[in-house]
Amino acid sequence: MINADTFRGRTVAVFGLGRTGVSAALSLVAGGATVWAWDDDKDTRISAEKQGVPIENLMRADWSKVDEFVLSPGVPHKLPKPHWSAKRAKAEGVPIICDIEILAREVAAKPEKDRPKIIAITGTNGKSTTTTLIGHILKSCGKDAQIGGNIGRGVLDLDRMHRGTYYVIELSSYQLERTKSLRANAAIFLNLSPDHLDRHGTLEDYGLAKQAVFANQTHEDAVIVGVDDAYGKSLCSQLKVHNGRSIIPISARRAVGHGVSALGGKLFSNMSKKSLEVCDLSQAVALEGQHNYQNAAAAFAAVSSLGLDSKEIGEAILSFPGLAHRMETIGTLRNIRFVNDSKATNADAARQALSSYKNVFWIAGGVAKEGGIEPLSDLFDRVRSAYLIGEAADDFAATLDSAGVQYEIKKTLKMALLCATRDALQSGVKNPIVLLSPACASFDQFKNFEMRGEAFRAQAQNLMGIDKPIKSNAEQDGEAA
Ligand code: ADP
Repeated sequence: MINADTFRGRTVAVFGLGRTGVSAALSLVAGGATVWAWDDDKDTRISAEKQGVPIENLMRADWSKVDEFVLSPGVPHKLPKPHWSAKRAKAEGVPIICDIEILAREVAAKPEKDRPKIIAITGTNGKSTTTTLIGHILKSCGKDAQIGGNIGRGVLDLDRMHRGTYYVIELSSYQLERTKSLRANAAIFLNLSPDHLDRHGTLEDYGLAKQAVFANQTHEDAVIVGVDDAYGKSLCSQLKVHNGRSIIPISARRAVGHGVSALGGKLFSNMSKKSLEVCDLSQAVALEGQHNYQNAAAAFAAVSSLGLDSKEIGEAILSFPGLAHRMETIGTLRNIRFVNDSKATNADAARQALSSYKNVFWIAGGVAKEGGIEPLSDLFDRVRSAYLIGEAADDFAATLDSAGVQYEIKKTLKMALLCATRDALQSGVKNPIVLLSPACASFDQFKNFEMRGEAFRAQAQNLMGIDKPIKSNAEQDGEAA
């Protein structure tokens, strides 16, 4: 754990006692702050108290005594509706921060020579893959890499820093809008597409929240920008005009000067004067698809800017084992391949899987984002048939109807998988893909995308284990077609 020594003697309110709230509270206590922690849920409070978190009813607390307020990133302070605790903080002029800000201050308080290196990653899609890939590369190159933030461990739960540590931190827009002091030695802005607009209001405000990843960087630090979408392209030009830092563009579509690109399946670096072929990405089994090439380009740019050897980085990229729930091949049944892309919670993410495969038996649905699957219509010719689940099923059915795509509405993921497998087996196509890439959040039917992916995995494994013809629709457990 990292102690929040810079908060010694201060009074800090903490609301939201999930994983990061508890670690922030404990880090603040260890650093010598007076902590008043609270959660709306009684069981959560009891569990936090058992872990040593000081509980104080923030509804009745004297907020004039509070110096700073650590508000869980998932709890809104503005849109769609400010939480009561955020209103109280605002009324008393108490700054709202999150655990990333605490870490940033602890790092900044160290003499420069003792600071760890910080690599910060943000973007709408690809954050976790890029973060994990960077961690893998650093570890493969013998470095002490710690991964945390919006993935895995909360940042204050990471091992204590020393000058050889690399903190690789995935950052969401929710965390970034409560972080002011972070200085990343390498910061990555992968891409931007409409998401989380209920919290940010507009794409502009969402993008601005994410741009905070570049705050406080100096000319020694690397600014890495994905230029494959319109927002990233214009951001890159703006940053070039407005500051003298070294900007490293990355692309999976075209060659970029002074940057890193993936072209024809190969990763090229133009970061130094001489162009260099880093590795053959088609050999990286866990980095299929153009989107993953963007992630690989970003990861290379970051670790290379910190002085790691290009050859070693290239070798590490090829040995990356991949992440669960992101275009994860579960296995095969005869010629059918089952792919779990449960993490595709918006259309842009699902686009990546659909454009990577042909002859897709596509399971989609859940809680849709604005626009639904309409933006994917250019890829519908890859879909043999769709199996729609959850709240979005009727809306998605209407989109598929107007595009002439065959579909069935299914009550459960299990039924969708059975029907998709049955149709794939009967289709006679060479290499069918049964793909769960929902383009939706999961919370109408599952606790989170991980549980949805695990359910798909378990059921697909079950099917592979039995390797016998799937029952016809009429024989299945009474679900209406
Ligand atoms: P995040 O952490 O930003 O949600 P992940 O790395 O977990 O991103 O990937 C989530 C999904 O987003 C993947 O299943 C894939 O479909 C898609 N994706 C991954 N990388 C990219 C990228 N660079 N651009 C667009 N989509 C991507």
